[in-house]
Amino acid sequence: MSHIAVTLPDGSVREVPPGTPVLEVARGISPRLADAALVAKVDGRLVDLTFPLDADATVQIVTNKSPEALEVTRHSTAHLMAAAVTALFPAAQCGIGPPTDEGFFYDFVVDRPFVPEDLERIEAKMREIAAQDLVYERQMWPRDEAIRFFTERQEPLKVQLIEEKTAGQSHVSVYTIKDRDVFVDFCVGPHVPSTTRLKAFKLLTTSNAYWKGDAQNAPMQRVYGTAFLTQKELDEHLTRIEEAKKRDHRKVGKDLGLFTFHPWAPGATFWLPKGTVLYNMLGNYMRGVLIPAGYVEVKAPIVFNKALWETSGHWDYYQDNMFLVKSADDEEMGLKPMNCPGHFLLFASDMRSYRDLPLRYHEQTPLHRNEASGVLSGLTRVRQFSQDDGHCFVTQEQIGAEVEALIGLIQRVYGDFGLSYTAKLSTRPEKFLGEVATWDDAEAALKRALEGARQPYELNAGDGAFYGPKIDFDITDALGRKWQCGTIQLDYQMPERFDLKYTGPDNTEHRPVVIHRAIFGSIERFIAILIEHFAGAFPLWLAPIQAVVLPIADRHTPYAEQVRTQLADAGIRVDLDARQEKVNYKIREAQLQKIPYMLVVGDREAAEQAAAVRSRAKGDLGARPVAQFVADALAEVAQKTLL
Ligand SMILES: [Zn+2]
Ligand SMILES: [Zn+2]
Repeated sequence: MSHIAVTLPDGSVREVPPGTPVLEVARGISPRLADAALVAKVDGRLVDLTFPLDADATVQIVTNKSPEALEVTRHSTAHLMAAAVTALFPAAQCGIGPPTDEGFFYDFVVDRPFVPEDLERIEAKMREIAAQDLVYERQMWPRDEAIRFFTERQEPLKVQLIEEKTAGQSHVSVYTIKDRDVFVDFCVGPHVPSTTRLKAFKLLTTSNAYWKGDAQNAPMQRVYGTAFLTQKELDEHLTRIEEAKKRDHRKVGKDLGLFTFHPWAPGATFWLPKGTVLYNMLGNYMRGVLIPAGYVEVKAPIVFNKALWETSGHWDYYQDNMFLVKSADDEEMGLKPMNCPGHFLLFASDMRSYRDLPLRYHEQTPLHRNEASGVLSGLTRVRQFSQDDGHCFVTQEQIGAEVEALIGLIQRVYGDFGLSYTAKLSTRPEKFLGEVATWDDAEAALKRALEGARQPYELNAGDGAFYGPKIDFDITDALGRKWQCGTIQLDYQMPERFDLKYTGPDNTEHRPVVIHRAIFGSIERFIAILIEHFAGAFPLWLAPIQAVVLPIADRHTPYAEQVRTQLADAGIRVDLDARQEKVNYKIREAQLQKIPYMLVVGDREAAEQAAAVRSRAKGDLGARPVAQFVADALAEVAQKTLL
């Protein structure tokens, strides 16, 4: 019998008889590799270790060290969970159970929603099955037999999946855990060789779901879990989840009294007094960055006639996301979901010369997007929000310098907030508008700008928008989560659609290029990121209340009021807590409210024009003259010190 040639990753070639399972190839390399093997890659495709090699192939053994291991482990754990659920709830019907970026889930039709005790039982059952070292076995069943089997088992969803996904196939791939009585699922695999390989997993939550995500279909229960390759990684992940829960901006925003929502205005924020301070501060901070950089602030209308949206293309491509209204004259109008079209009308409202360029508009008026209520979430997914939005109108030659200056602003802003970030440049996609040469030119200018600003970046070739290349900035928060915030997008299309022009030095008309740009992105979402990044403990320059004065006894209240006024006059955001509570109680509360400084005043302090200063972060700092505290605090604010 002739042998087949197996090429290994190091380039070496082994001869094996046809039909040899990949596990045997691993064993031939080393018994330790065979023990560590989870699955294999044959000619680039992931397969089970039992996969029989019947032709020449390249083979790579996948172990815990391989990047593919996590997904296979999570997917295999989803099967393990389904096995546990069907063991405990024999009437449960299985839907689908994919791996995700964070773990896995599986959907089930069950008689009643799962409760937390169910999750505990399911997880215990999973551990029991895992400990039994049961084999995941792939079987190829005749399609008719598979359909009959799942029909008899009253698993109509599996029957539907088989019918949809395997039309024309004579056989379908199913996987058992031990045997079909323990668990069987319609799946193409691959999976880990046996349940004992699954050690680090945890079930997390359940939620309502619908078959195929369609509310017309059967309601299901989705069970979320996560799995890792080691217990240590799982523990770290669970700690991160706990920390994320504690920092959840919806919870912190409530605890700190920053904002609230009402069911009659879904996705639209009620900013409470402290939240309003924060909101205005961010808006003004951005004005302080942009106006010296040559921007002008404008305010365009919020409601526009549909003619504008037809010109911009929103009417055809974005209408579902817009709030539409009728005027008293029965005009069809739409609330703006973005500022760009308003800025184009402003640009076109006057004759423009090359001497006017770059022309930089900045606007923070509210935008509305008609999101389904089901996807709304805190401040991160809303219907009404504002951006630190801006559009720069430039000549083709000005792109490089403008973008370089813009990157400089972005670096400064994220630096002020202590946020680390990464940049990525997305270039010409397959379908694009305009000339290749113009694109090449613009992309080269963006690259030079990134290099000029010493900004490291990743290249996403072909990932630009059809109307122009772009640079996106992802913030990484204190928990290592990434948030896309800043963006710089070149646009060659809108100037065409809106027939924007300027007179060049040659006295003829030219098209400007538009740069859509934002640094915060949505101010609402940026506040959510800041809340979670700082866990609500804002640095002094950002804290809505920077200091609170705490009189020890009633008789100290007049002096406390004097201190409050002194701080307020100096521009410090200060509160006075004159309630008849013990000062330690008031300190504890100020600490929970994450107020950076507490100024305790009693007889001695009153006599010396002083205050006993307590820092939220550093504890007791001792007594000092109030004037000195003010000077120190103002310096800290001016330097935007981060704690
Ligand atoms: Zn599977
Ligand atoms: Zn825009």
